[in-house]
Amino acid sequence: MQDLRITFIGSGNAFSPGGLCCNGFLINDRVLFEAPPQTLGSLHQVGVDPNEIEVVVLSHHHGDHFLGLPFLLLHWKWKGRTKPVRIVGPKATEALAKDIAQKVFPGVLDATYDIEWAEAVAGTACRVNGLELEPVRVEHDDELSATLGYGVRYHGRRLAYTGDTRLCEGVFDIARGAELMVSECASREDSIPIHMNLVDDMPRVRAALPAASSLILTHISPDVDNGNLPNTVVARDFATYRL
Ligand SMILES: [Zn+2]
Repeated sequence: MQDLRITFIGSGNAFSPGGLCCNGFLINDRVLFEAPPQTLGSLHQVGVDPNEIEVVVLSHHHGDHFLGLPFLLLHWKWKGRTKPVRIVGPKATEALAKDIAQKVFPGVLDATYDIEWAEAVAGTACRVNGLELEPVRVEHDDELSATLGYGVRYHGRRLAYTGDTRLCEGVFDIARGAELMVSECASREDSIPIHMNLVDDMPRVRAALPAASSLILTHISPDVDNGNLPNTVVARDFATYRL
């Protein structure tokens, strides 16, 4: 089994409370989950060359998860990318990304490297490079094309990522058997219908995980702590967690 390094390019919810960068994280500096608006700056901050990103995985199209993509495309076009990149996301990711990117950076899609777009469908496993994804439907915003969480297998390790969601069956599905779950926890105790919180929801998420597995809370507000839950930490901007 390969050692895993999970590096957070941001840990905050959409409002960047307290100056937090919006949520996103890397696995071993090669797989990027989410493309928040500050993605490029955060990658530079953690010392990862954007051209070395092999796969980008998106959970849904809210701006705090998606709007960094035009900047990645800008970097890749003008800063020497030659290697192909795979971009995985819910239905209509390719069309939306191309529409926005072409409008805000005209010509940015006339690239000299290959972009492979893959649609993630709940209930249908997909393999991308060394990454196996098991997308699940989560309950967040029905106005979007889809909202997904992911079961993840990477070089023999089993992870789970909730994306943004209220507590729902999809969260429990990916929790079972995970060595590490990265879970959204948008507030300490506010009841926001489309998100989970620390006080009401995280004890149930923790209980659904194997006892020895790790839980990392992200997409947070600054008053979120680990709630005294076992094997649970709060993500910090630019911090790396090893598994
Ligand atoms: Zn969202």
